[in-house]
Formats: sequence, C-alpha cells, structure tokens
Amino acid sequence: MRTYRVGVLGATGAVGQKFIRLLSDHPWFTIQAVGASERSAGKTYSEAANWVETSEIPSSIKDMVVRECKPEAMNDVDFVFSGMDAGVAGDIERSFAEAGIPVVTNARNYRREPHVPLLVPEVNPHHIEQIKKQTFHPEGKGFIVTNPNCVCVPLTLSMKPLIDAFGVESVVVTSMQAVSGAGYPGVPSMDIMGNVIPYIGGEEEKIMWEPLKVLGELKGDGTVANATLGIHASAYRVPVMEGHLLSVVVKLKQQGITEDQAQQAYANWKNPLDGLELPSAPKQAVRLMDDPRYPQPRLHVQNEGGMQVTVGRVRKAGLFDFAYTALGHNTIRGAAGGAVLNAELLVKKGMIQPRS
Ligand code: NAP
Repeated sequence: MRTYRVGVLGATGAVGQKFIRLLSDHPWFTIQAVGASERSAGKTYSEAANWVETSEIPSSIKDMVVRECKPEAMNDVDFVFSGMDAGVAGDIERSFAEAGIPVVTNARNYRREPHVPLLVPEVNPHHIEQIKKQTFHPEGKGFIVTNPNCVCVPLTLSMKPLIDAFGVESVVVTSMQAVSGAGYPGVPSMDIMGNVIPYIGGEEEKIMWEPLKVLGELKGDGTVANATLGIHASAYRVPVMEGHLLSVVVKLKQQGITEDQAQQAYANWKNPLDGLELPSAPKQAVRLMDDPRYPQPRLHVQNEGGMQVTVGRVRKAGLFDFAYTALGHNTIRGAAGGAVLNAELLVKKGMIQPRS
C-alpha cells in the first residue's frame, strides 16, 4: 500500500503532540509538514513545541521547520490533521477544504454543520457518505471530517452494544475528566491538586448534543436526523492526568432485560470495523471488565494504545434500568487517535486520494 503525505495543523499543542507521536511510525501516513501559529512558524519543531509527551520528539520531526497553517504553505500534502485552537480552526480549516485539501479535525467548529460527519468509526462509519454533499471545493476534493468531544467517544462506544441489542431511551452521564483535557498548561495546579471542580465551561452542552448526531440516522440528502435519545450530562474536572471516567445510567427501550443479558450484549456486539484491518483500530473496541473495581484511569487508560474503551460494573439500577462505568483516553481515543482512525477509514473506503 502507498503511504500518504500528511500535514499536522496545530502540531505544537497538546493534541498536536499526540498526532506527532501516533503518526511518526504509522504504516500508511508520513508526516510531511507541521504547522502552528505565526509565533512558531519558521522555528524548528523542537524550538517551537513545549514537548510534554513521555517519549522523546521523533528524530524525523524535531528539526522540521514549522510552517504557517495556510494551504499555500502545505501544497505538498495529501491531507491534513488538525489539532488547532478552536478560536482559529474555523477559517483555517475551511481554507484548506476550499483549496482541495481534506481536513480531519479534532476542533469543534464544524461538528454541527449539516454535511460534516461527526465520526466514531465503530459507531457511525456510514456517516462518511456525508462528505459527498459538501461544497467546500467545486470538485469535492476538499472536505472536513470531525471527531466528537472526548466524552462523547467513550459514551457512544460504551452504549452502542446496548443500543444495538435493546435500544436506549435515555441516559444520565457524569464525567470525571482528566486535566489533560484542558490542553497545556490547562487547569492551575493550585485549583486541581487534592480537589474536584464541578464545572467545565461548555462541556455539558457538547456531551448532551454530540451523541445525538453520532447516533442519528443518515438521510438521502446527506444530513443526519439526530437521535431522539434523552441525555443529561454533568462534567467534573478531577486530578487525573489522562482518561475520562464516566458513570452512566441508561433506560432501555426493551423492558425486562436481565443483568446477564445486558453484560452479554457486550460479548455479542459486532464491530463494523472488524475485517477492515485499520492500523489504529483496537482489536476489541469496547471491553467489559469483570472486576468491580475496574476500569480505573491509571490502570487501564493505555489499553490497546489508548484506543480501547473499557466498561465495568454493568448492573441493575434502582431508578433507570442499568448503570455502568466507562473509561476512555481523552487525548488519544477522544482526540488524536480517534482522528487517525477516521483518516484510516476514509483511506480504506477510497474517500482520500493522493493529490498528485
Ligand atoms: P493547545 O495545546 O492550546 O494547542 C493549540 C494549537 O493551536 C497549537 O499548536 C497552537 O500553535 C495552534 N494555534 C494557535 N493559534 C493559531 C493560529 N492563529 N494559527 C495556527 N495555529 C494556531 O490546545 P489542545 O488542547 O491541543 O487542543 C487543540 C484542539 O483540539 C482544540 O480545538 C480542542 O478543543 C480540541 N480537543 C482537545 C482535547 C484535549 O483533550 N486536549 C480533546 C478533544 C479535542 P502555537 O504553539 O504556535 O501557539
């Protein structure tokens, strides 16, 4: 298989660094260009980035000169990943799509656009068809694909086996979110050490809306009819480095389901990515753990390279039908790794082509 030349926009940030690490030895994608703000452009990557990953900057990247995030400065790539600040991502990502360069982004700017897929590949892979209705580029060469908020990913993935088996009517989710979700340097240490902050601005709204699009029905005109699921969300910042832990309570459509049947739904679930052999796809996307103490961020967040969502304590709930715990890596599964998996699916389905 040929390799694709990729650019990384926002390459110096927290999510950008994850992209660099995940892409530096990727079998299909080669980093051709790194981009960031005017403050960083012209510097080498190692000068511009405050590297916070635990492994060293890949040797092939550290001396690469950071470019401006403009399509004319990145004309030698097949497509770009974006981990840019949302304050600037809207205009810049549009300019790339209009120039015929596909954009696979983490930023929130286009998540609600009617023809832009909000993708969790194991949950709604067919939504990539929405790309065909995008009008950024006259020949459809440039498009935008987004991945959802870092809670929406483990929430929709952990609910999907229950949805497929019994239907879900409503859900209440409480998310205990890692500090890395706030970027770098993020939450001041004196606010978060030994503490829990019961508010993350803008987060609960995203958690209550994005799953509706992800779980929605693709229509013939390329838009999505949002799912009618009821969702209530609470978001707390907790002193954990990586990994958002969710406490989830669901009301099922089908009544009379036993605890054993609910647990069995996870074992029986058919992952639509099985057989596609996408390099970043976890062997088991959703894993139900037996031990009632699990999952825990420190112990399980790195499962399958941070791409697996772990679930535990699936049990009968007093008020609704079932309760469970879920864990997802926020900057890998919920950000850079999710975007890389999106791009792999697009390549596999022939939606991304070499540009020259
Ligand atoms: P961050 O650490 O603040 O990084 C922001 C990046 O954007 C940096 O590379 C920065 O470059 C670049 N940038 C800023 N202004 C720019 C401009 N005018 N032109 C081009 N590039 C510019 O933020 P982050 O935490 O990595 O988040 C990046 C994006 O991913 C955000 O949209 C965020 O909402 C989303 N996201 C984050 C997470 C998470 O867990 N952290 C999860 C999901 C989604 P300089 O270094 O040159 O300033």
